Amino acid sequence: MNATFLQTPIDYLKGVGPNRADLLKKELGIHTFQDLLNLFPNRYLDRTQYYKIAQLQQTNAEVQIIGKMTHIKTVEQKRGKRLVATFIDETGSIELVWFRGQKWIRENLKLNVPYVIFGKTNYFNGSFSMPHPEMELLDAHEKSIRSAMQPVYPSTEKLGNSGITNRVINGLMQQLFLESKNAFAETLSKPLLEQLKLASKKEALFNIHFPKSQAHLARATYRLKFEELFYIQLQLIRKNLIHKSKIKGYTFDKIGHNFNTFFSEHLPFELTEAQKRVIKEIRNDLGSNAQMNRLLQGDVGSGKTIVALMSMLIAIDNGFQACLMAPTEILSVQHYTGLVELCKKLNTSIELLTGSTKTSKRREIHEKLENGELDILIGTHALLEDKVKFKNLGLAIVDEQHRFGVEQRSKLWHKNEYPPHVLVMTATPIPRTLAMSVYGDLDISVIDELPPGRKDIKTVHRFDANRLKVFRFMKDEISKGRQVYIVYPLIQESETMDYKDLMDGYESIVREFPQPNYQVSIVHGQMKPADKEYEMNRFIKGETQIMVATTVIEVGVNVPNASVMIIESAERFGLSQLHQLRGRVGRGAEQSYCILMTSHKLSADAKTRLETMVRTSDGFEIAEVDLKLRGPGDMMGTQQSGVLNLRIADIIKDSEILKIARSYAMQVLKADPNLSSEENIPIKNTYAQLVKYRNIWNYIS
Ligand code: ADP
Ligand code: MG
Repeated sequence: MNATFLQTPIDYLKGVGPNRADLLKKELGIHTFQDLLNLFPNRYLDRTQYYKIAQLQQTNAEVQIIGKMTHIKTVEQKRGKRLVATFIDETGSIELVWFRGQKWIRENLKLNVPYVIFGKTNYFNGSFSMPHPEMELLDAHEKSIRSAMQPVYPSTEKLGNSGITNRVINGLMQQLFLESKNAFAETLSKPLLEQLKLASKKEALFNIHFPKSQAHLARATYRLKFEELFYIQLQLIRKNLIHKSKIKGYTFDKIGHNFNTFFSEHLPFELTEAQKRVIKEIRNDLGSNAQMNRLLQGDVGSGKTIVALMSMLIAIDNGFQACLMAPTEILSVQHYTGLVELCKKLNTSIELLTGSTKTSKRREIHEKLENGELDILIGTHALLEDKVKFKNLGLAIVDEQHRFGVEQRSKLWHKNEYPPHVLVMTATPIPRTLAMSVYGDLDISVIDELPPGRKDIKTVHRFDANRLKVFRFMKDEISKGRQVYIVYPLIQESETMDYKDLMDGYESIVREFPQPNYQVSIVHGQMKPADKEYEMNRFIKGETQIMVATTVIEVGVNVPNASVMIIESAERFGLSQLHQLRGRVGRGAEQSYCILMTSHKLSADAKTRLETMVRTSDGFEIAEVDLKLRGPGDMMGTQQSGVLNLRIADIIKDSEILKIARSYAMQVLKADPNLSSEENIPIKNTYAQLVKYRNIWNYIS
């Protein structure tokens, strides 16, 4: 069947008038024959099984029975009449009951003729009944093509109310198959079908809508899931390959003075194997003539900063500028201070630009950027302002990318004649399957090793009632010279209440830890940046022992002497946030602790989150649990990627199929990058279709 047929407006299908067409479009997004064909059932009523009445269980959901009606009578009740029939097979009898449509039933249903009935059974006082059964003469039942597994299609209230029931959709689907004569073109290549022993497209489409058995259905489902994931991967990988061949980047082929001096003389510690590997990957990218587009994943404390710096030094050695953008003022400041310290023996110029940079300083930075005096610019969103013009930006690094939209990121790389190389760093590990779908068009580097000598952070869960013990523990740690974070949740919806919690907490801490023995800092979102910075710095310098804060300290803040992280109302934080917060401690040589405080009222999910935190500190494992708890919908990056718009595959449950699909997509493109071989014609055509008719499968971005 050719593409034109499939693109026929749904209005032209027999049985669809203007009203129905309108509803199908509005309610289900079905505009064409193809859209209807791709409306896959949510579930199936298994009508392959026939029950004997003697086999019925009190727990049976929906059952199908062959038998006859022997009697039918009207029973008068206080509230109206009901119609009751006795239905028997050779093993027993049940009652069929109708409250509505009694006249029609009386006139149309026949006694003592074999019927197939289908419905939910109720059990009461030792006998079974079935209200409003679906009934079909056994004769007709045996001829019908919807007599096996009955598909249940997605629907909406409005559709149901307008008479477009599941049965109607089913009828339309039958009509579509009738008109098309099930002559649907193959969309995968022969070698793929053979190697993976996949069902053909025709077979799969037929069996997804009209499966004869669970086995037929499974085969059809597998094929369609594979196809869906295959084409997503094909698109992502292709995008990446085209990107590499088309988007020219500056070639940084020199490893020069700055990099070499730093590497041989100023490296403050030995790099981990993982850091070395990642730097090599980045060096390769920068040295090729394609623009780098790389995601660097590394758990909190895995040492991404030094990787960022060394990448920037490569850019500088090749005569280019570099920038590093962070999501918050505090983080930018910390990056700035850290990098200035690391570079103090090098002859590089580094500046910081944030919302609170003074106008005169700002002007100076703009000038030095444009005349090329400035090598490295660090800052917040302020870097994206139009006034910020680089002389020759060669490398843009974005820290904690999930805080930036795609648009903002691309803004950075339109600053220049050629796009700069881009390195995106994130401390939130993304499960591999999700990364493959969301970031399949980026290259991914992973730092999967922590610097040596890190002690595992001891993590415990405590109830609010144990607060006094926790205070005692804090005092012990502080007397050993350590510092403590206490973090309060702050979510937008209840900001004022959260703010009150924070202030109450702060007051009780100040009461418990009075001056002059103790100094307590507080940092929260409603403070002026300058005040935040002042408080943060007091803590960094060790002038205060306790930092009470909201999640502003979540990302990146580095105070090696802080060894205790107390998280208040921990049940209200997400897993990745808890993991991020815990990563603020354990940065020095001391044993560190994370205490998760909660009330006794915990949801099942909250319990799982807390147990996971106590059990493991492996960021990837935590990310997997997080993905299972929340689904991909709330994970970062998924909103733009369309992994939520999958028609049939499930990014979590079908991760095995995803891996296979990705490796085959890669294989196909490697052997035949332009899909121009004879055997790949079906793939080329399908791909072209997908790109052309964006609305067919809306995951094509
Ligand atoms: P993150 O990946 O969270 O940004 P950082 O780059 O801030 O981590 O590094 C965390 C801490 O570990 C810093 O204090 C840094 O100096 C230190 N560090 C990084 N790499 C190493 C290493 N190879 N050996 C020892 N310490 C390291
Ligand atoms: Mg960092």
